[in-house]
Formats: sequence, structure tokens, C-alpha cells
Amino acid sequence: MSGSGSVGAPAAAGSGTQGPVRELWPADLVYDGLGRPRRDAAVLVQTRPEPARVVTIGRLDALRAQDPGVPVRSPRRVIAPPPVNAHTHLDLSRMPLSPGGYVDFVGAVIAHARAGGRGLEAAERGLAELAEAGVDTVGDIVTDERVLARLLSHERLRGVAYWEVLGADPDEADALFEATVDVVRRFRPLERPGGVRLGLSPHTPHTVSAPLLRKLAAFARAEGLPLQIHVGEDPGELPLHRTGDGPLREAWGPFLSKFRPSGRTPVGYLDELGVLAARPTLVHAVHVVDDDIRRLQRVGCAVVHCPRSNALLGSGTFPWAAYARHGVSVGLGTDSRGSSPSLSPVDEWRAAVAIHGAAADPAQLLWAAVKGGHRALGTQPPRVVRGSPADALMSWPEGGPWPPAAAAAPAGADAPPGADAGSVGDVRGGPD
Ligand code: ZN
Repeated sequence: MSGSGSVGAPAAAGSGTQGPVRELWPADLVYDGLGRPRRDAAVLVQTRPEPARVVTIGRLDALRAQDPGVPVRSPRRVIAPPPVNAHTHLDLSRMPLSPGGYVDFVGAVIAHARAGGRGLEAAERGLAELAEAGVDTVGDIVTDERVLARLLSHERLRGVAYWEVLGADPDEADALFEATVDVVRRFRPLERPGGVRLGLSPHTPHTVSAPLLRKLAAFARAEGLPLQIHVGEDPGELPLHRTGDGPLREAWGPFLSKFRPSGRTPVGYLDELGVLAARPTLVHAVHVVDDDIRRLQRVGCAVVHCPRSNALLGSGTFPWAAYARHGVSVGLGTDSRGSSPSLSPVDEWRAAVAIHGAAADPAQLLWAAVKGGHRALGTQPPRVVRGSPADALMSWPEGGPWPPAAAAAPAGADAPPGADAGSVGDVRGGPD
């Protein structure tokens, strides 16, 4: 990834002097992993003796007033802990970017897999890209046992490796479930404290049969396995679930021949089957109605937003303001290289700022990129406090779109985006 990296590079000011040396690192947004990202803030850093350590974080003008002689670095756009890529498919990292609609994209993924493009080599390429982007926490959808072994034994990475399950035929539910249990039994011993956990990913509510969804959800609850599921990515999911008709039925008739519409939304259907009770993380969740969002808030499901993938596939615009209004915890993910030009969540954040414009506060999107991602994956979020090493913070790249300053989000209680519901714009439900 271009441009981002540790902010702890050698300082010009103060070098060569004896005794403690301090500097101010200002940024448009500073986030310490606690409370909210702060606007027009700065990090006071003791750069010598090494290693550089955080002294305090506060408003730039207040910190300058306290110590008028302290050297001030050139301002950055964001200083924050490393962001989380809460949803990707590392084994698709050799897939060419494939714009187009959802149906065509799924066809391109299948063709790429049949041509031998998935697998460990592709995942290694993705892992290298994540490392370059400064990402140490990931939610990855896994389809290859070698990739599963690699992720679960990775020395620096944490997050969740979600084993993907796909099967629309209810008659195959028992066999697919037993095969999934077998994978879990064989790979769970590879989990290490603080490392990558094993999870499950039922692909979507329309590509996994109802009995299999029920079994997987009950198994995940009993075993304490995290779940991640794609839902509401394409507008065609709503008519398919409500009436059984629409573009997905037309495109995938034979594959969906045993799919029976519930008359509900996909989110309502997952709730009816008991899947939401296992508190899965829902990926995309673009085409939802207000009642779905309230339901997710009630049961405590997090959502992963992939704005660049949604834009590339013409999936529609994620209803950020509605999620914010209801206080649902949202993280950011890139999805695969097939629908995203990079695996960097910093790039994803920049795109989200541009796509949502005035409808989303960049500070809230920053919270999503860091804390929201950890919430989605169940990993321990970072906390940068007095005495923390300065290299626990990253400078996010300058440039890119920056909307007119909205009302500053006060630093305060730790809360998901919806906590300042009064500051968000119009509420947009999905198509109804
Ligand atoms: Zn995906």
C-alpha cells in the first residue's frame, strides 16, 4: 500500500541533543483506540531516549499552549492504530479486478477457480499485501485447507479464518454439515492464543440451504465459533427471498431450484432460522430495510462495509446514516482483489469518505476502520495511552477527498457510530 506507515520515523528536530526530547505530531484526526477519534488533535511524543513513546494526546492548540517551544511536525491526515481488514478472500488475490454486476462477478470467481487461480500461492500474495498495508488483523474467507493451516499458524496475524460453506440443496445439508464439523475438529487444534481463530462462513442465505444454515448456526453457538455471512449485497436478494422471483432466480434457476422464499427479507429469514442468535457478522448488508437494522442492533450483530467492492459491482450504496442512527457497530473490509483494487483498509476508508460525503462523518468512518473491525472479529482493540510505544500508531496517507468539516465529534464515551445520532444526515432504508 502506498504512503501509510509508522509515524515513528527519525525526527530532525531535537536530534543530537541530550536528555528527553519531545515533539508534537498533529493530524486532522487522531485516534487512540479509546473513545472517539479527535479532530485537530496531536500526539505529544517523547522521541528521545528511544524508543519513542506517547506522552499524551489532546487538542493541538492546547498542547502547543502548554509547551510553546516544542517542535511540531508537518500535519498528517490521520494518526491512528493500524486499521482492520474485516472481510476479504485472500485466496482470490490473483484474480483480476472484475467490474460488472453481482451475477457476472460470481461467474468470474467460478471461472477463476476452475482455471486454478485460487489457493495458497494467491493467499500468500494477499498476506504480503496486508503486511505492506500495516494490517495485522483480518477476517478472511477460506476455501482451501492449506490456507486455513497457514492462517491459523501465522505468527503475527490475528483475526478470524472463516471456513466457507456453500450448498443450496437441502438434501445435501447433512453431508455438508458433517464435512464442516470434520474440518473444525481437525483444524481447531492449530488455534493459538492471540492468533487467528477458526470461524465459519455460510456463504449467503440463498446459496446455503435452510437446514444447513440452522445446523451451522447451532454448531457455531455450541462451539463458540465466530460466523460471517454475505447478505444484502445485491438488490436481487430481496425479491428472491420475498417472492422467489427476480434477477437471481432468472440467472441461477437450476442452482436455486430448491430455494423456497420465506416472504421475509434476507436478514429476517436469518433471524427466523436462528442464525442471528449466533451473532454472525454480516458482510455488505446494503439492501436492508429499517426493521432489519433495528433487528441487528437488538441482537448485537456487527456489519462489515465494503464500499469499493459495492461501487465496482454496482451493488448500491450502504445506508451508513441508518446504521449510525440505530447504533449498529460497523467495520470496514475490502472484499477480494476481484472486486477491490487493494487489500488496504486505509484505501477503503478514503473511498468510504468520498462515497458517503456529507452522509458520514470521517471520524466515524475512522472508528469503523479500527475499532469497528475489531468488534466485528472479536479481537482486542488497541489502546494507545501514556507510555505506549509511538510505533503503535500509524500515519495514514495524505491527499484524497476530504469533505467540508462536519460538526466535530467530541472525544468521550466509547460508542459505535450511532451514539451521536443527531449529527447524521438523511436515513435511507433499502429498497422495499
Ligand atoms: Zn466477500
